[in-house]
Amino acid sequence: MSEFDDILALRGFSRRDFLKGCAALAAIMGLGQAAVPRIAQALEQSALRPPVVWVDFQECLGCTESTSKSRYPDFVNIVLDLISLEYHEALMAGAGAQAEQNYSDTVEGQKGAYVLVVEGSVATKIPNAMTVGGRTSVEIAKQAISNAALVVAVGNCASFGNVQAAYPNPTGAMGMLAFMRDNAMDTAKLIQLPTCPVNPVHVASVITYFLTYKKAPEVDRWNRPLMHFGRKVHDECPRRAHFDEGRFVEVLGGPGEDERLCLYKMGCRGPHTYADCATVLWNNHENWCVGSGQCIGCAEEGFWDKFQDFYAPMPGVTVPGLRGVRVGADTVGIGLAAATAVGIGAHFAFTAAKGRLGKGGEETVIEEKEA
Ligand code: SF4
Ligand code: SF4
Repeated sequence: MSEFDDILALRGFSRRDFLKGCAALAAIMGLGQAAVPRIAQALEQSALRPPVVWVDFQECLGCTESTSKSRYPDFVNIVLDLISLEYHEALMAGAGAQAEQNYSDTVEGQKGAYVLVVEGSVATKIPNAMTVGGRTSVEIAKQAISNAALVVAVGNCASFGNVQAAYPNPTGAMGMLAFMRDNAMDTAKLIQLPTCPVNPVHVASVITYFLTYKKAPEVDRWNRPLMHFGRKVHDECPRRAHFDEGRFVEVLGGPGEDERLCLYKMGCRGPHTYADCATVLWNNHENWCVGSGQCIGCAEEGFWDKFQDFYAPMPGVTVPGLRGVRVGADTVGIGLAAATAVGIGAHFAFTAAKGRLGKGGEETVIEEKEA
């Protein structure tokens, strides 16, 4: 047995499990089975311990919970177990000076070699609102980002500021893309995974892609990897046929819910949101938002301010059967033509998703069909 087989065995995995995990990862990344040997080789040869520094700013620790509590699929655990988490304020055993030493040893001692994971937004207007070890989130972010090989913003807080950035945004909460642009930093090494919380499959997928191809995956204008954010929730939703046929849930908890009809009238943001939640799923691949509620658009820039009221339908959607008319849900199914077009900019291992709708972040217009 090789040293790698020993490591797998210690974690309860056989080589067969590992290869099955690599095949599952390749499928999720849209790379095809031909990529499996390369992924397996990269994971096996990655010194097995690529250093990772995980910093927490203004957040609720939900992304840490989501990632660390992942049990399924197994490949997520494999990838997460292979990394060397050098610094994580919530998970590491060390504290105080020892923890700070670990941080400096990696950020200063391994410049250009580590992956930086950022959870939470930076407080730019009131810097002292967010400090760790006497340093503000702005100071920590500038240093940790500058020296990192790859920056992964996990969750909407780290990507776009989330609720902390909602009006009036007293702390000046800012996500990584805006922060890096403001500070003239190279955003080519930034990957944003902005669901709330982050999906552990996305984290595993991005890390694996980086280890395999030594570069960041292809991204949209919000630095979201196209393999996971290249198509709308609405395009892969199992309730889509009901939308196309004009069958909607009319009351939450009403009969339409039992029939699993379309939730657009109840405020579903699936038509406005780019993410692969309908296929990757959540809770260890058990369920997802539309399976038990509705999409609230957490993968988008401006999530919160632009997406309220969450139970009111958003206009700007062209509904089947109403040619040339973009309507709000109150007009869906009754044929009225009033419309207010709202422009909506639009556990760690990934082809760019080549969906019908192209790159993410575009204004939402759902393809129109004859009644
Ligand atoms: S509006 Fe929501 S529930 Fe309806 S098809 Fe689109 S994503 Fe699914
Ligand atoms: S379905 Fe919508 S609300 Fe749910 S996680 Fe995905 S993007 Fe966020």
